[in-house]
Amino acid sequence: MIGRDAPVEGLLGKAAEILREQPLCDRCLGRMFARLGVGLGNDERGKALKTLLVMELHRRIRSGDVSAEEEFKRLAPRLGSYATLLYEQLFGEKPGMEACAVCGGRLGEVIEKAAARAAELVSNYGAQSFLVGCRVPESVVEAEERIKLRHGLTYAESIASEVRREVGKRVRDLTGVEPDFAEPDMVLLVDFETGYVDAHPLPLLFKGRYWKLGRRISQSKWILRDNVKKYPFSVEEALEPAAKLVGASRAVLHAAGREDVDARMLGTGRPMVVELKLPRRLDVQPKRLAEEINSSQELVIVVLDGRARRRDVRLYKSERAKTRKVYRAVFVTDADVNDAALAALEEAFKDVKVRQQTPRRVLHRRPDIVRYRSVYGVKVRRLGPGMFEALISAEGGLYVKELINGDEGRTEPSFSSVLGTQAECLELDVVYVEL
Ligand SMILES: [Zn+2]
Repeated sequence: MIGRDAPVEGLLGKAAEILREQPLCDRCLGRMFARLGVGLGNDERGKALKTLLVMELHRRIRSGDVSAEEEFKRLAPRLGSYATLLYEQLFGEKPGMEACAVCGGRLGEVIEKAAARAAELVSNYGAQSFLVGCRVPESVVEAEERIKLRHGLTYAESIASEVRREVGKRVRDLTGVEPDFAEPDMVLLVDFETGYVDAHPLPLLFKGRYWKLGRRISQSKWILRDNVKKYPFSVEEALEPAAKLVGASRAVLHAAGREDVDARMLGTGRPMVVELKLPRRLDVQPKRLAEEINSSQELVIVVLDGRARRRDVRLYKSERAKTRKVYRAVFVTDADVNDAALAALEEAFKDVKVRQQTPRRVLHRRPDIVRYRSVYGVKVRRLGPGMFEALISAEGGLYVKELINGDEGRTEPSFSSVLGTQAECLELDVVYVEL
């Protein structure tokens, strides 16, 4: 008979060769061929191979092939339920059962159990997206790698990747929440050994703006020695009620640049990203968070527009020096200044590069360097004798107080040098930050 003694070829031959060496459950056998056939589960692949193997051996046994009968007798404990009845017919007893050499037969159960727990966590946290990770003991990984190597299996995937995908699918089906591989709300880490699932919520990020209505308010909390705060309040502290609302460990402010501690932030507000670390709730509306912040104090107002991405934080940080800002400054002069001199001041600061050496007041924490910053325009109006209000449009990173007083010549040109009398900034507000 044709092919009577021919070895089983192709995939089926490979499957027989693997099972001769060690028992594998449906999933672990199927996984050795995971990249063959699309839209199949590894359990289906394994089941198909084992079924076909039983059929092929049965065909050969029926044709009188004694070696096939021996092979079947040997493999039956590794072929699972698909071989049981035939084995009973042939040998009058039940075959033994051997546990999978990779997963010990636990894989299916681990997947189901972990998926149920993971879905529960997604719901409890109110996550809008998730990612499944899997920790597999070294011994399991090694067992799997040995089989792949010995049998030259190039279409296999790893057990961790099967757990991730299968748990992910089930969580999506159970909760309706989609996985996100780039920036998930939370990572669900399955421990293969114990079957436990750990929830790792990623920080919540919200895009928005802030307004600082008072002075002597720093942007971030500024702690001196012995836990003493340098300034009574900070914008970052104003965000704390939002952190509390979602059970986060703390709130971090990522702003596009910063104003001086004694400058207010008015006008259009300053763009920022609010980060809430280790949140316990992930489904909070930005509007609700902003309300919580705004109703808890009166010095800082925020607007939160929606969720931000990690890259937004980087963007805000990198662009901080480049963006255009508009400042409102109140300044006084030693000698009074007439209207013609004010007009000359406005003329002198039309699109001009200002040379600034690091101001003396920040020298203790900044390197002493020279930088050039553009001033695009200045508008001045008189408030009283020797007292004026200026609107200054300039490149970010300009030290405005020094633009006014000249910092003993370290900033040039300055209001002082152009007016010919010492000018000093009394009040400074930021009224526009471009992003
Ligand atoms: Zn297995």
